[in-house]
Amino acid sequence: MNNFKVALTIGHSKESPGAVNQGYMINEYEICKKITDYAANCFPKEYDLCIEDNWTLGQEKDKIDKFKADVIVENHMNFASDTKKTGIMTIYEKDNAESMLLAFAVHEKLILALLRQDLGVINHETIKGWREWVSFFLFDKIKYQNRFGFDVPTILTEIDYISNSDVAEMIMDKNEDFIKKAGKAIADGIIKYNEDKLNKGMIT
Ligand SMILES: [Zn+2]
Repeated sequence: MNNFKVALTIGHSKESPGAVNQGYMINEYEICKKITDYAANCFPKEYDLCIEDNWTLGQEKDKIDKFKADVIVENHMNFASDTKKTGIMTIYEKDNAESMLLAFAVHEKLILALLRQDLGVINHETIKGWREWVSFFLFDKIKYQNRFGFDVPTILTEIDYISNSDVAEMIMDKNEDFIKKAGKAIADGIIKYNEDKLNKGMIT
């Protein structure tokens, strides 16, 4: 059996870090990088990992293409001017059943691990017009294929609001429980998605 290939991509980039919480001096990219790096360490050895920076700028397309991922999971944090706004949502590609199944698997693990408000699993068409232009890029502009020639199930996580004061406090905690739990949940969700498929005999 081939190893299951997981591409984890970090929302935004060092140069263009996405949302910023000025009060706590933290930005979306640095936190998503920590979460993604932690997630990468939570997979058993029969999983191959590819970690991407700068994905949203499209600078690493060749690398992802060559990797032939079985799934792509891009990690973000949300932002609102209301510092009380909170909750986790996971976004999948509309009309793509595998993307939806992957989204539900990861979302459930995130909610159970972090015990934050559930803003649901939603399709990417629903969020058009938001600031998250990256979803357009991620779901509409570039199509990746796996080693069997099928579209790669791709999802985008919004791991709560970086603008939320409680979330920022948890992120700043020196034990990094929030970051570790989020990372492990993402890995657990991807593993569950893969195991569900194996149980159905869909991958040999
Ligand atoms: Zn973002």
